[in-house]
Amino acid sequence: MRILVSNDDGIYSPGIAALAEVASEFGTVRVVAPDQERSSTGHAITASRPLSYRVTNIQGLTAYRVNGTPADCVALGVYHWETVDLVLSGLNMGLNLGNSLWHSGTLAAAKQAALLGVRGIALSAPSGVEPNYNGFKPWMRQVIEQLLGQHDLPLVNVNFPRTPRGLVWTRTSVRRYDGKIVPTKDPAGRDLFWSTVTPIEDAEAGTDRWAVEQGWTSLTPLRLDLTDERTLGDVRARLPLDDALARAISPETSSPEAAQSVRDDEADVSLTKTAPAAAGRAT
Ligand code: MN
Repeated sequence: MRILVSNDDGIYSPGIAALAEVASEFGTVRVVAPDQERSSTGHAITASRPLSYRVTNIQGLTAYRVNGTPADCVALGVYHWETVDLVLSGLNMGLNLGNSLWHSGTLAAAKQAALLGVRGIALSAPSGVEPNYNGFKPWMRQVIEQLLGQHDLPLVNVNFPRTPRGLVWTRTSVRRYDGKIVPTKDPAGRDLFWSTVTPIEDAEAGTDRWAVEQGWTSLTPLRLDLTDERTLGDVRARLPLDDALARAISPETSSPEAAQSVRDDEADVSLTKTAPAAAGRAT
């Protein structure tokens, strides 16, 4: 089994060394990670400049440090390794619970894997535990063992409490957003602001935050489709727009020409062969 290991804390983080060491018990490991810390960069990709990498060594394993984001690293790693069976991201220095998933670079690396059709698992631990992650190694091993056979889980977000009691399935705690701007001053008295994530409300039972508060390792299966199905049904009934007309006159499947035209519109035209045609349409 080929396992790609990435993170958002940077390739020399002690967390990725611990994860890579455990992962190597399950298959052939390659480490592909950002050359500097990219925490809280979410699922950004580097589209305005090219990517490159340098070869290094982590725990005796071949490793590549990339001048890009966590998502870039996974895309580049999957591109270079003919088949990748599993992407592991972490072990992150800091929990990724609830709405912080929108900001998490750790989860983004696993999510990039899922986008490419490869299973992805994000693993996070409380901050302040580094640099000694030895206590989490048996728990990381147990999580990988449990998840390997579950082939219907394309994307799982895992968070460890400081001293785990066991593993539980959870859902994401999204009742309230906990990101806050905290003002401060620089030495000259000028205004500065920190973006922080601070829990502001008790977590509901069964959520990721609740589990970690109770000392359980939280495993949340995630999906890529963000569509709110219930609201979609409600709003379609209340405000049908042109849905009936579209169903009546548009075929179920688009023609290859129609599909290609939209793909051209989505692409960066400077990088596609259709640039002259696209430029022609625009003028
Ligand atoms: Mn991080």
